[in-house]
Amino acid sequence: MPTLFERIVAREIPADIVFQDDRVTAFRDIHPRAPVHILIVPNKPIPTANDVADEDEALIGHLYTVARELARREGIAESGYRLIVNCNSDGGQEVYHLHLHLLGGKPLGPMVASKAQ
Ligand code: AMP
Repeated sequence: MPTLFERIVAREIPADIVFQDDRVTAFRDIHPRAPVHILIVPNKPIPTANDVADEDEALIGHLYTVARELARREGIAESGYRLIVNCNSDGGQEVYHLHLHLLGGKPLGPMVASKAQ
């Protein structure tokens, strides 16, 4: 079964795609947590951060250069932004197709909501 994000990459289901090349696709989150909330996903389905292989290093780096470019385009590079990858249940991962959240456009507050314990 293709993941939800594979189907977005293949344009089988609609999404507000803001960037796509042969390696990654970026689209606006359907439930934005900030004025700018874009998901940047590898076109190939890596389920979680645990599944990143040595040969994926360039691909993962590309997610970050696309994030940098989108932050510039969205006008948040100077004000600042947050890049997040959630992994598995404690990380709050909902979609098991690796993705980088690009969040910005307002002060984002503390990195996590609660204290360590
Ligand atoms: P995560 O919790 O890191 O797995 O994040 C998954 C994200 O995907 C959430 O922020 C959802 O709002 C977002 N999402 C789920 N379905 C869609 C969709 N069809 N289009 C865009 N974003 C989606």
